[in-house]
Amino acid sequence: MRPSIHSGRGEPVEPRWPTITKDPANSKAVPNLVDYERVCAEFSWSHARAALDGLPGGGGLNIAHEAVDRHAAGVARHRIALRWLSKEGAQRNYTYGDLLDRTNRFANVLTRLGVGKGDPVAVLAGRIPELYIAALGALKTGSVFTPLFSAFGPEPIEARINIARAKVLVTTDALYRKKIEGLRRSLPSLEHVLLIGEPGSVKNLPGTRDFRALLAQADNRFTIPPTDPEAIALLHFTSGTTGKPKGAVHVHQAVIAHHATARFALDFHPGDVFWCTADPGWVTGTSYGIIAPLTHGLTSIIDEAEFDAERWYGILRAEQVTVWYTAPTAIRMMMRVGLETAKKFDLPSLRVLASVGEPLNPEAVVWGVEAFGRPFHDNWWQTETGGIMIANYPAMDIRPGSMGRPLPGIDVAIVRRIGDASVELVETPDTEGELALRPGWPSMFRGYLSDDERYRKCFVGGYYLTGDLATRDRDGYYWFIGRADDVIKSSGHLIGPFEVESVLLEHPAVAEAGVIGKPDPVALEIVKAFVALKPGHEPTDALRRELLGFARVRLGAAVAPREIDFCPTIPKNRAGKIMRRLLKARELGLPEGDTSTLEAS
Ligand code: AMP
Repeated sequence: MRPSIHSGRGEPVEPRWPTITKDPANSKAVPNLVDYERVCAEFSWSHARAALDGLPGGGGLNIAHEAVDRHAAGVARHRIALRWLSKEGAQRNYTYGDLLDRTNRFANVLTRLGVGKGDPVAVLAGRIPELYIAALGALKTGSVFTPLFSAFGPEPIEARINIARAKVLVTTDALYRKKIEGLRRSLPSLEHVLLIGEPGSVKNLPGTRDFRALLAQADNRFTIPPTDPEAIALLHFTSGTTGKPKGAVHVHQAVIAHHATARFALDFHPGDVFWCTADPGWVTGTSYGIIAPLTHGLTSIIDEAEFDAERWYGILRAEQVTVWYTAPTAIRMMMRVGLETAKKFDLPSLRVLASVGEPLNPEAVVWGVEAFGRPFHDNWWQTETGGIMIANYPAMDIRPGSMGRPLPGIDVAIVRRIGDASVELVETPDTEGELALRPGWPSMFRGYLSDDERYRKCFVGGYYLTGDLATRDRDGYYWFIGRADDVIKSSGHLIGPFEVESVLLEHPAVAEAGVIGKPDPVALEIVKAFVALKPGHEPTDALRRELLGFARVRLGAAVAPREIDFCPTIPKNRAGKIMRRLLKARELGLPEGDTSTLEAS
């Protein structure tokens, strides 16, 4: 079979990167997915459901039961579920039995506060054990776990808490002081704020309660109430080109997909030590950072610290990580540090390397072989899909640069939109179209909270349209081309340009703002803003610095622009829509394309 690399126009082109023939590390364990065609043909979601227990007595399906209680009730009770590595070098282990105890306590805390079924519980914290306890404890009560990225500034946090109408916020005292205290009056839905802090320190903050003290006082027995598999469990925020952030709703039976997809794409085996480096403030950090490894009864590593190549190699070695799920930006940063550093660390335990969140350059896949003796397995999914949809599998040849092939149970197509109501299938191999999925898998989002119209618009002609452009080659491998919209991917985080523009417009000197993703060799894109000033303001360096600082304080470092250029006007079409594509073309010195709809300025 000869690998073809898309040209985007239907003609196969000669491959620049040779196929990597199966993963040599396979000898360590027989992969879960060997005969792809056969497994796909035989797969059914009801079969996948049978790998889980369900609540006793036919009480339905609850994520926390599958992740914690069923293991704690059996031989895995004393197995380490979470191993937390603090920034300072301390280590804390939680067995499945410990997790049962803590999550039961938190479920009782919530119940006593009158928080339960359908109530959103937002958690704003770094990678600390209490976040995992809060998430799983909330799920036990039927509350809706809503993670908030701790690097967000006050503005994105306020928007998300208010859209979610969160009733409870669990956060640390440091984050509360820095980001929430000043906002408290504009968060009307919040009834309880539970602070994780050093003993004694949280007593001084009015309107808050001490998370740890409440946990210590609570009963450690809790019976999960019957849970409808279709009950809302998770609310994950994502961004579009326009409008407010979108709250993607996921239900308890999403756990069927978390479990099954991890088995195939991450090749989980009993005894694995798994490290998902994604922050639990985002969907990967929840679906695969919290839920999937626990449903498989594995040991998960949680590292509190930020990226540091030597630290990461050290963790892979010291913790004897067997399955490592990371992101292209981190891989590129490791590549920058160099092969010599990688070679200092012998990693005989490492069996599967996987990556998600943004395009993984073929160089990085191949570098995996040089640095670790095995390639990175790219996979694709998004907040809305709740779980991995397309992947490279350990038992399958890898075509560097390809996202791989659809998961069993997932029906993927390349389509072209025809008007607003239908699509046509793009059958010719290597031809660009929009990546589309046939609805029906358990972790598919069930709506955008309070935004039915936006949700409905995602479904055309019987497909969920992902907003990504891609091609499929002759052998069924999918290749990412780019986004069909203007959202920005920076260091793996999806950023809506509108959210950034709105904050810039709040500055008294700014008349108009347009925001794009500017290509970056490490972060994929950085946020770049173009700003037109109001009369009486000069485009000085001092003002540029002021605007950068202003945006950073409001939006947080993860979302704020890293570059700002001044321009006399922002190009808009006649309907008044910012032409971000044009801004981007100008920035990159590319042809401007069709500008016939450009508003006369
Ligand atoms: P999010 O919803 O934040 O997880 O972002 C989802 C988006 O990230 C997708 O729609 C893609 O645009 C991008 N993405 C995720 N995984 C990949 C991948 N393996 N290759 C290319 N783009 C990816």
